Amino acid sequence: MSPVLQLSNVVKAYGEHRALDGVDLSLPDDSYISLLGPSGAGKTTLLRVIAGFETPESGTIRFGGRVINTVPPHERGIGFVFQNFALFPHLSVEENIGFGLTNRKIDPVTDPAKVKARVREIIELVGLTGLESRAVTQISGGQKQRVALARTLVTEPNMVLLDEPLGALDANLRSRMRSELKIIRERCGVTFLHVTGSETEALAMGETVLVLDNKQIAQQGDADSIYNRPNSPAVARFLNCYNLFSGRVEGQAFATSSGALAFAGAAQPAASAAYAIRFDRIAIRPAGMPAGEGEVKIEGDFIASEYTGSAINSFFSLDDGKVFEVESHLSHSEPETYEPHGRYSLVWKREDALVYV
Ligand code: ADP
Ligand code: MG
Repeated sequence: MSPVLQLSNVVKAYGEHRALDGVDLSLPDDSYISLLGPSGAGKTTLLRVIAGFETPESGTIRFGGRVINTVPPHERGIGFVFQNFALFPHLSVEENIGFGLTNRKIDPVTDPAKVKARVREIIELVGLTGLESRAVTQISGGQKQRVALARTLVTEPNMVLLDEPLGALDANLRSRMRSELKIIRERCGVTFLHVTGSETEALAMGETVLVLDNKQIAQQGDADSIYNRPNSPAVARFLNCYNLFSGRVEGQAFATSSGALAFAGAAQPAASAAYAIRFDRIAIRPAGMPAGEGEVKIEGDFIASEYTGSAINSFFSLDDGKVFEVESHLSHSEPETYEPHGRYSLVWKREDALVYV
């Protein structure tokens, strides 16, 4: 499938400071894409450049096959759902949604009956039926989010940019809105580019996940390959599910301040060297037990555990003071209790480690 959006070597600076430094990406049409990056990574800047609110210093933006660098925002056919919703407080739900349709520069819809019909359709799509004449100051956060989305969708964009759309919602609503956003997108049939600082949200939602690091796209792939094969220590760190050790390769082991850690297979080149082992690939055993064939073992003192519902995350202090995290899925076994300050063996398979050089 030909890409709907392509950026080549896009640079955006604010004064002397570069917020984006050579962004390359290529997004498929009719797909849910998530873009993950920590606060300050340049996520909002990237969306604003794509929408046309910011002009890049250099690079090319291609949308639907044509270069749009100089096309004004309202002529791009790209919708933007702002982080803070940006609703008109003095207008009703219906009026907020209809506003973009009647007031757009190109092809405004002036026939009130047509506006009404179109708005009704969208209200149904986003699940706001019954709230049409409610003031937007008198609806919940989740409903405001739907109005913001509806206001964009009513203009029939060819792509929708969403800037941390679930950030303002509480945890319950956030997980419900995740699946609703996916359903709404499928009905619209256009690409949604959803920006988030949450690794769980990015992995759960994106058919394709992009990771923004160091002002560039560090990795692009499906959720599974990002999660299982992060291509750099920085990406592994954002995912918040890997223990990372710095050090250097010595033969088939990686020398760290916590000891020599064996690995199998090839190390991958990256900007910095590291050894990574995922939280959920580690077994906790009594101290002193020798490691089995093909296993790697370190020892640590138990600090504390944290229940997350389906799993327990246990924290250990290694002899160099480093904190080491283990995630045990409760579907596999009954929760274990560990002795406070007790010493344990932490064991994983050599081939589960990722090594960067
Ligand atoms: P994110 O959305 O990932 O948190 P932003 O795109 O908002 O990141 O910001 C990226 C960097 O650009 C930050 O260092 C931020 O301070 C800077 N920045 C963003 N907007 C402006 C602006 N209008 N003027 C100057 N610097 C800005
Ligand atoms: Mg932002």
